[in-house]
Amino acid sequence: MNVYSFKDIAVLTGAGISTESSIASFRGQNGLWKNYRPEELATPQAFAKNPELVWEWYALRINTVLKAKPNKAHYLLADLEKTRKLTIASQNVDQLHQRAGSKNVLELHGNISHSRCLQCANLDKLKIDFKHPPKCSKCNENTRPNVVWFGESLPQNTFQKAIQAFQNCDLAMVIGTSGVVEPAASLANLAKSKGAFVLEINPELTPISQIANLSIRDIASTGLDNLINN
Ligand SMILES: [Zn+2]
Repeated sequence: MNVYSFKDIAVLTGAGISTESSIASFRGQNGLWKNYRPEELATPQAFAKNPELVWEWYALRINTVLKAKPNKAHYLLADLEKTRKLTIASQNVDQLHQRAGSKNVLELHGNISHSRCLQCANLDKLKIDFKHPPKCSKCNENTRPNVVWFGESLPQNTFQKAIQAFQNCDLAMVIGTSGVVEPAASLANLAKSKGAFVLEINPELTPISQIANLSIRDIASTGLDNLINN
């Protein structure tokens, strides 16, 4: 298949595209931190109970993310966007797509780079080794990480835009995500039902493989490179 024969591309990316930037998959992470599993910290309940603890953990994660660099897969997608309509809906919170130059990025799970004020919803950019828990720069109230936690719904406006992109595309690419996380995974089904070509890039068999027109069993960078430059 020739990726350049498609005019309107919608891409769903997950943790797999960032592993080559040395960011450990959130769900695949085995290591405990202070005897907590990520699932015990990334929840509204954990934050309500102990905001300092949750911020301390995020401060470590933010340092890892801010030191990481976009990899070839991020850059290839950014280049592709220069020549055609392309929308990226990402489950990642690391903003590596934007740092690689992608403009049209929908952050389904928010981003780890900002704090969000609990009072006025103002977003503040966080720096490496920021003082935590951070206060809002506008009203000095408490803030939370600007991410979607377990048990929270996706930002509706952003998700609606993702639905539109997958409804209207002629090529849907699903890269580095198992398709287990809903409702993002249903985007591939939606594109398929509207007649789009569904392409998956993943080293492993996933639920998306069943509906994909083509599954490339490879990591994101070499899978995309072969697809785009061959
Ligand atoms: Zn505020």
